[in-house]
Amino acid sequence: MPVDDPYLVRPAPGVHAYVQPDGGWCLNNAGFVSDGGRTLLVDTAATERRALALREAVAAAGVPLPRTVVNTHHHGDHTYGNSVFTPEALVLGHENARAEQLAAGHQLEMIWPGTDFGAVDITAPDLTYGDRATVHVGATEVRIVHPGVAHTTGDSVVWLPAQRVVFTGDLVFAGGTPFLAMGSLAGSLRALDLLRTLDTETVVPGHGPLTDPSAYDSTERYLRYVAQLAGDGYAKGLAPLEVARRADLGEFAAWRESERLVANVHRAYAELAGEPEGSPLDLLAVLTDMTLMNGGTPILCHA
Ligand SMILES: [Zn+2]
Repeated sequence: MPVDDPYLVRPAPGVHAYVQPDGGWCLNNAGFVSDGGRTLLVDTAATERRALALREAVAAAGVPLPRTVVNTHHHGDHTYGNSVFTPEALVLGHENARAEQLAAGHQLEMIWPGTDFGAVDITAPDLTYGDRATVHVGATEVRIVHPGVAHTTGDSVVWLPAQRVVFTGDLVFAGGTPFLAMGSLAGSLRALDLLRTLDTETVVPGHGPLTDPSAYDSTERYLRYVAQLAGDGYAKGLAPLEVARRADLGEFAAWRESERLVANVHRAYAELAGEPEGSPLDLLAVLTDMTLMNGGTPILCHA
């Protein structure tokens, strides 16, 4: 499937979002904040080639290469390119993102052996935080907030209060289906409440085009839909795959990666069974069920 070239959007002076269409599997967003003297990068990309293109885009915007990289979470599409920016840049992330990244290692390369990831040197955050951290990029205040377990156990929201821009990481997929396999359904709902407390104009989602806080409402509707489906299916003793296959996606049918529904039902079931939020699922079973939801076609990394 051909994919379009990445593009830059400037939602506020000194702030750029780097969007990789169409936002499907492995096609994440990044962004950077610069006062012209120093630059902070939010996330990298899944492959060496895409991370090098991101570095080119930073340079082409006329700002210095980043001295700080913030990872919104550990997933390889957001972090595999970290080493393209180190050792010049310090990588900052939540303490759980570091642990998860080191534990996951080259997981994406194992899931997608047909993808050319290039040279991936797993580079976890050098500097970690617990609840919140603030980086001052010249006069620009960059607040980094951990919303609790949500998309993963180590998510970070990157919030620019003066510019009213938020980088949500994968708490929001614009036009795509949320993915809770490594996080929490209940926690994802709480994370939306946190995002709503921020006075935001522009939302840079983890995948998909820039949006606004109305994306929180559609995401919440989906999460509540999953909770309802899973609650009914769990009570009836149905397997997650049966629940997902019987589901009428309604307004969510138009979202990319609808096969994630079955992964999300697996997560909801774990929570209904009393498992701690973010506890590991059987990833192979989840991937197999997503393949079955796709009529037997494995999910593809588009990077
Ligand atoms: Zn992710």
